[in-house]
Amino acid sequence: MARILVVEDEPAMQLGLKDNLEMEGYEITLAGDGETGAQLAITGTFDLILLDVMLPRLSGFDVCKKVRESGQSTPILLLTARGEEIDKVLGLELGADDYITKPFGVRELLARVKAHLRRHSWHDSKPQALTSIGRLQIDFAAFAAFENQQEIKLSHKEFEILAFLHQHKNQVVRRYELLEKVWGYEEQPTTRTVDNFIVRLRQKIETNPNQPKVILTAHGSGYKMVI
Ligand code: CA
Repeated sequence: MARILVVEDEPAMQLGLKDNLEMEGYEITLAGDGETGAQLAITGTFDLILLDVMLPRLSGFDVCKKVRESGQSTPILLLTARGEEIDKVLGLELGADDYITKPFGVRELLARVKAHLRRHSWHDSKPQALTSIGRLQIDFAAFAAFENQQEIKLSHKEFEILAFLHQHKNQVVRRYELLEKVWGYEEQPTTRTVDNFIVRLRQKIETNPNQPKVILTAHGSGYKMVI
């Protein structure tokens, strides 16, 4: 049974998350503030952490940072409020794997939780078909990336961006196509968000991120993966 740590201070939200996740058969541990959450995340053995951003004592970002500094690599799914675009980017930079925007539906949450747990458990098995992209070998089916047999952490969105660019390799993919495909219609990120993700991806895949050879910028309109 997968063990999930839920760090959330609002009682109604706590209860809703706990009930819905327990109904799916997960074992839930609750923490009501950042400090307790960080301590449990670092010392416990969880398969996934659901982490609210606005928390008493320590913010979700601080928790994220502490957990990663401790060497703990448990996947973290941030719960952010609508419109906190900067928070999402910052959270991912601090080591979160993904975020989900409040208010979210139960089905969406459960789908994300399942996807992360599946990805995590697949990490233990040998990758099947690897696709070389720049410095990395990617197993798209398992959401896993490797560099010289060492696993490299990529967020769910980073995998989705790479997969979409790879499906359309050697063609220009426009920013709005990426926004539609990867972010969907319900969220409203700006094209700047796409650019930020590309910058981070280049740092992971390019030999020299300042002179990209794999993900090229197509004159203001989009990007092109050259393979
Ligand atoms: Ca909160």
